[in-house]
Amino acid sequence: MKAMLLRKPAPVETNPLEYADVETPSPGSEEVLIKISKCGVCRTDLHIVEGELPPVKLPLIPGHQVIGRVVEVGRNVEGVRHGELVGVPWLYYACGECRYCRRGLENLCDHALFTGYSVNGGYAEYMVAHYRFIHKIPGELGELEAAPLMCAGAVGYRSLRLTGLLETGGVLGLFGYGAAAHLMLQTARKLGLRVYVFTSSPWKIEHALKNGAEWAGATSEEPPSKLDAAIVYAPVSQVFVEALRKLDKGGRVVLGEIYMTPVERLEYRLLWEEREVKTVANVTRRDVVEFLQIAVKHGIKPEVKTFRLEQANEALKELKHGRSLGQIVLEIS
Ligand SMILES: [Zn+2]
Ligand SMILES: [Zn+2]
Repeated sequence: MKAMLLRKPAPVETNPLEYADVETPSPGSEEVLIKISKCGVCRTDLHIVEGELPPVKLPLIPGHQVIGRVVEVGRNVEGVRHGELVGVPWLYYACGECRYCRRGLENLCDHALFTGYSVNGGYAEYMVAHYRFIHKIPGELGELEAAPLMCAGAVGYRSLRLTGLLETGGVLGLFGYGAAAHLMLQTARKLGLRVYVFTSSPWKIEHALKNGAEWAGATSEEPPSKLDAAIVYAPVSQVFVEALRKLDKGGRVVLGEIYMTPVERLEYRLLWEEREVKTVANVTRRDVVEFLQIAVKHGIKPEVKTFRLEQANEALKELKHGRSLGQIVLEIS
């Protein structure tokens, strides 16, 4: 099969992914073989390809927002049929037995495997996946639009859930307005939250206001009121500190990125009065299932920009430097 292979992390400008012929994997007894039709391109892929996340497997096929059809089923697989449309998220496998899994924190499992990082992912024509960690894609969702929901949507939803605002309501600040924030603006509005968006580009401010933000402005500006919670989607510590500065007493900042520049200085008074900071790590099956239901119920749809499989280097460059707000998706078949 054809795949985009990473042999050694390097800046995307040097085209580190190689369009290669590799052996089609065969499913183990609890695995399915998936013929991939779409694979979303996520900022985490960029961090993996460029080496900000230390490599755990090389060579590697990246990609963890995979949509495709089941074409082969291992002998112990239950409840998955040949031909079914499924999605594979970042969480490829969790043990189900460690103390994190037993507490419902399978995203923190000691033995977790991650798609397109510790195992091969979806920048390819086929992949294998464990049958208990794939997700049936509802017929209401198009394949193209479903791909970004597997990570930008599901992990975005986990950050939204961890703000605590889904129980209490209130004012949410979104810092950084890219693909994930754009999806979470739609989701938060549909779930009844008031949303302020912080971004430096004038055209993004306009876009956010058109899409339901109650207020939008630069990160340095003062919003109309303090924030009950904030989600930071920029891997930049100064933005995180700005978010803390705008937080009301008892509020929480959720950091949605897997990587952030070092925090050079943090004054205690920004944290005092019971302000909290929480990071989001990975995703659970519950996050994916709940978010797919919400997306169907409320018609949440990403804007999508497509590239072919062999253009994955270009897709990553577009993600790194591009001006588009859309989710980037590789069209594979
Ligand atoms: Zn575990
Ligand atoms: Zn991702």
